[in-house]
Amino acid sequence: MYKDTNCGEPREATVGSQVTVAGWVHRRRDHGNLIFIDLRDRSGLLQVVFNPEYGEKAHDLAGSLRSEWVVQITGKVVSRLPGAENPDLPTGMVELSATDLVVLNRSLTPPFEIVDDSEVDANTRLKYRFIDLRRPRMQEILKLRHKVTHIMWDYLTEKEFTQVETPILIKSTPEGARDYVVPSRVHPGDFYALPQSPQQLKQLLMVSGVERYFQIARCFRDEDLRADRQPEHTQLDFEMSFVHQDDVMAVVEELYMKIANETRPDAKIPATFPRLTYAEAMERFGSDKPDLRFGMELTTITETAASSDARVFQAVASSGGSIRGFVATGCGNYGRRQTDNLTEFAKSSGAQGLVFIALDESAPSIDALEEDHIKSPLKKFLSLDVIKKIATEMGAEPGDLMLIVAGTEKLANTVLSNLRGEMAKRLDLADPNEFSFVWVYDFPLFEWEEELNKFEPAHHVFSSPKAEHMDYLESDPGKVIGTLWDLVCNGSEMGSGSIRIHDKDLQTRLFNIIGYTEDQINDRFGQLLTAFTYGAPPHGGMGLGLDRLVAILAGESAIREVIAFPKTQSAYDPLFEAPSPIEDQQLEELHVRIVMPKT
Ligand code: ASP
Repeated sequence: MYKDTNCGEPREATVGSQVTVAGWVHRRRDHGNLIFIDLRDRSGLLQVVFNPEYGEKAHDLAGSLRSEWVVQITGKVVSRLPGAENPDLPTGMVELSATDLVVLNRSLTPPFEIVDDSEVDANTRLKYRFIDLRRPRMQEILKLRHKVTHIMWDYLTEKEFTQVETPILIKSTPEGARDYVVPSRVHPGDFYALPQSPQQLKQLLMVSGVERYFQIARCFRDEDLRADRQPEHTQLDFEMSFVHQDDVMAVVEELYMKIANETRPDAKIPATFPRLTYAEAMERFGSDKPDLRFGMELTTITETAASSDARVFQAVASSGGSIRGFVATGCGNYGRRQTDNLTEFAKSSGAQGLVFIALDESAPSIDALEEDHIKSPLKKFLSLDVIKKIATEMGAEPGDLMLIVAGTEKLANTVLSNLRGEMAKRLDLADPNEFSFVWVYDFPLFEWEEELNKFEPAHHVFSSPKAEHMDYLESDPGKVIGTLWDLVCNGSEMGSGSIRIHDKDLQTRLFNIIGYTEDQINDRFGQLLTAFTYGAPPHGGMGLGLDRLVAILAGESAIREVIAFPKTQSAYDPLFEAPSPIEDQQLEELHVRIVMPKT
């Protein structure tokens, strides 16, 4: 070993001991005769002092040290002089008085300083990721991520799950995205697809009798990269046989509680995870990923609003639309600039406009509201009575601001749930130290896809319909509820799961409803359907995003902060400069010809 002690270890109790440390020169300060460096390794920082009296050669050499040089230093742990202690540093009461110094390697001047709060653009950070990861914060995150997966392994092993690796070179396993494909050299013209998840494989493992499977699995999805998506992400993927929805949820609940408690003992976590049906979540929060850390629940006021003289309201109501809103408590004094700003925000979420009604705090009560207490762009069309009624229905008080959106139910929900999140941000209502886990269950099995003019699976095509909905699978697919659920935390989806179909005929009915031809069914799912004819047990499971979980635990908003080597928004890797062209000869071997898009 090049060292017998880590930089972060020496303490007052070890004063007087002779140690050898090795690491990176974090900072150097020359004080005339004395040269100080902060030496850094994965455990932290240690101040080293070079005094010619104790090591003349070491002192001479120390003068040439630069940032990020790699060195080995031997010396004695001594107490710092009174007044020179640094209480912010775990090793801050001591320093190493160096007698020997060996330069193990030099370094160019790094493109940015190795500190947590340096302002470096994202591209430079990724191009020099090997340096970026030296920052203490990134080291901490890597360790946190390791700890989370370690707890998963331990817990699931204890619960008798078996870890099984599934192939990366496979065939399309649809999760609603495009596949990444790999051309085959030995089968000219044929391609593998990288798994969007191991869904079919884990179901096959249930047919194989594994009963309890898990894997920390990489999933590949070629999506248009919306905010905070990565082309490859990691999931805790698991599957269980002979279980119902509650059994699957119980495993996750216990595991996630354990992970949260062990990695963030300071945080607030619910003792049991509350449950909302999809319908309830949409009704109360306008979203299937509700953030429960704050209130501002939505109310529907379609009837009352449409009874006013406001044409917009009447038109929306008579075309079957929805008028909904929520109360921003204490925001009744918002000025023009603030309400304009919110209107712009609502428009950027797709709304035609935003109707607000501000109630002055000087009003003694809602019943005693007068014209002067009210500010609203629709004031002319809303009688005092209607406003009082709306305020009562929405639960507003004097001093509050009512934010109202009219449109299709889907649009009103999208806009209002975004706006609810935005108001929480502005009012600082979301406690970053609270992990508000919630189960959202009873999702519809299908979603109507306007553009494709057909039903698509809301989750994936393997989830089972509720027994009581089997009869109208074909006649009214939009009404079918699936045994299908999500885990949500602080407004983010943490993962999805379901009880699966394990019957060939039922699975085939679902494929038919979403319009697959017989050839497509056989080509893509033949293996699963065949397996179902050889004694498939009832089974269910989940796929839970590891990146998002670690990000939430780390208090990071972007998942790329918790991935060692992530890609940029345009799915590019600035470090390896991937993707990149390949040699003509490789193309030839793969029987692939490139046709560039016309520009
Ligand atoms: N395979 C699903 C997904 O990736 C999760 C699951 O249903 O287990 O979303």
